[in-house]
Amino acid sequence: MRTTSISTTKTNVFWNHDYTAASYAFDTTRKSGDIARAIDAGRADVVIIDPSSHRERTLELIRTVHDAIYVDAVLSGHPEHLASSQGFTWDSGIPTMAIAHSSGLVAAVTEVLSGSSRVAGSLSSGLHHARAGTGRGYCTFNGLAVAAEAALTAGAERILVLDLDAHGGGGTRSLCDPDRVVQIDVSTSGFDAWNPAPSDAYLFAGKDDYLTTIGEALDLAARAGAFDLVLYNAGMDPVTDSGVSSQDIAVREQQVASWAEEHDLPLVYALAGGYAHGGDAAREALVDLHLLTIQAFA
Ligand SMILES: [Zn+2]
Repeated sequence: MRTTSISTTKTNVFWNHDYTAASYAFDTTRKSGDIARAIDAGRADVVIIDPSSHRERTLELIRTVHDAIYVDAVLSGHPEHLASSQGFTWDSGIPTMAIAHSSGLVAAVTEVLSGSSRVAGSLSSGLHHARAGTGRGYCTFNGLAVAAEAALTAGAERILVLDLDAHGGGGTRSLCDPDRVVQIDVSTSGFDAWNPAPSDAYLFAGKDDYLTTIGEALDLAARAGAFDLVLYNAGMDPVTDSGVSSQDIAVREQQVASWAEEHDLPLVYALAGGYAHGGDAAREALVDLHLLTIQAFA
C-alpha cells in the first residue's frame, strides 16, 4: 500500500522514486525500486511513505555532518574525484538519490521520536562507509550519521547504532560523538574496520558462529545502558558475500525485532549492503533477503 500520510496501524517504510534517480546502475542505486515493487505486490504488510517533505531539512543535516567542499562536489559533480569518491560515475541523479536516501532515514527518525510508532524503516542503506570529506564503499552521504544528528537535535540523548552489515561501520564511528552514539557492530569482513570507544562493541563472526555472535551483540546492547533510539543497519551481505545462510539471517531479523520490542526501544532500520552477483535470479533473491527485515518489523 502506498500513501503520503503516516499509518498508525502498520509499519511505515520510507521510499520514493528519487531513491533510484542515479543513472549509474548498481545494487545501491537500484534495489530499493525492486523492493518497493515487491511491497506493492503485497509481499510485506507495510505502508510506503514518500519522505520528500524532509528533503530540505535533510540537506541541512548533511551539511552539518559532511564537509562543505564534499557536499558541494556531490551536488555539482566537481571536483570529479570527490563527486565520484563513493565509487559511482557522477550524474545529476546522484545527489537526488543521495539526499533522498538520507531523507528517508530522517523521516523515519522523526516518526518514531514523535511517538506515533515504535518502528519505521527506510528502503535505503545506512551508508556507513561515508566520511566527513569523502564517499567510500558505494556510500555517498552517511545516512546513519545524518539520522543520528536528526535525533540528537530533536532531543534524543543517547543512540545505539546496531550495525549488522557484513562490513565495518568505520565511517559512522568517525562522524558521531561516542559519548552520545554507541556503536555495536557484528562484521563478517574486515573492510572499514574501526577502533571501538569504551561503550562500543566490535565483534567478528563467521558463518558457523554467526547467530551466537548476534546473540552476544544483543546481550551487550541490552547491558549498554538506556537508549532513546536504535538505528539498525540491516545488511544482507553476510549472505551474499560471506556465506551466512539465509535461514540464519531470517532468525537474526526475528531476534533483533524481538529484542527491540522486549526492551521497548524505538527503532529505525536501514536495509544496508547485499549484492546480486549475477542476473535476474540473484536480484530476486536479494529482494527476498531484504524482505526478511521488512517482514520481521511489520
Ligand atoms: Zn557491506
